Amino acid sequence: MSNEINYQEVINDIYRDVSDKENIGQAASYIPELAKIDPEKFGVCLKTVENQEFGVGDWQTKFSIQSIAKVLSLSLTYKILGDSIWDRVGVEPSGNPFNSLIQLETDHGIPRNPLINGGAMVICDLLISHTENACAEFLQFIRKICSNSDINYSTAIAESEKSVGYRNIALCNFIKSFDNIKNPPNEVLDFYFHMCSIEMTCQELARTFMFLVDDNFKTRENEPVLNISQAKRINAIMQTCGFYDESGEFSFKVGLPGKSGVGGGIIAVHPGKYSIAVWSPKLNNKGNSYRGMNFLESFTTKTKLSIF
Ligand code: GLN
Repeated sequence: MSNEINYQEVINDIYRDVSDKENIGQAASYIPELAKIDPEKFGVCLKTVENQEFGVGDWQTKFSIQSIAKVLSLSLTYKILGDSIWDRVGVEPSGNPFNSLIQLETDHGIPRNPLINGGAMVICDLLISHTENACAEFLQFIRKICSNSDINYSTAIAESEKSVGYRNIALCNFIKSFDNIKNPPNEVLDFYFHMCSIEMTCQELARTFMFLVDDNFKTRENEPVLNISQAKRINAIMQTCGFYDESGEFSFKVGLPGKSGVGGGIIAVHPGKYSIAVWSPKLNNKGNSYRGMNFLESFTTKTKLSIF
């Protein structure tokens, strides 16, 4: 990272500029529990490979990370099973919304990538098949990477999503009809909804995602999370698929691998340099945080720290 840049000042300035503009979009309300969140919350945390941390706004408030968790479940599955996972899920951008059913018919139940809902369900299915207790082991995995035991599922959010999850239930059953889900759909969906309900702060997210920034990253137990090639591949998938049918736009405007969630969070990483987490619940029509995208576009433009 450049020593001449005052990162705290940079994020403070961009935060003020973005806050001064109208906050456009809609917070996700299809999950009833998410509709209760104050849509004006706004937080940012930047963490550098030199271990410096900068935060502004609501950066230490927990929120529902939703689809950001798909990167973490993918990473754990990749760690356990290696390249065999790619027989069950692709690595192509879908160009479709995260909950679309449309390509699954022609693709015979092989989801285009692990960051859309169908792909994440196949990953959940693999984890259920290859762990004693997927829910417990997944949580343990995140807590270890973040060196933080205060990370939890929100049962209220998981139950709330389950109560209205008709499309996800359809997706899971549809994939099962092609035999690409091996466990009972109810079990897979239960884990999927729990996975999406994980709550973290921007600070915790920025810390957690350092395993995709720093080639030398080790947990407190001195274990690497993924090998260098695996980490590189996860970043490649985030770069091309992390924002659904807005992945190209995010690459174009921000230029970093990243992942969004309908809770309004975005995590982005600059391999070798930094991770940055932004949270603002109002979403654009592609389901990505409006202010989050704007903040990150300004950040990589002002600091010239995108990967391109
Ligand atoms: N749990 C959400 C869903 O399946 C996750 C979607 C998202 O964050 N994009 O609808």
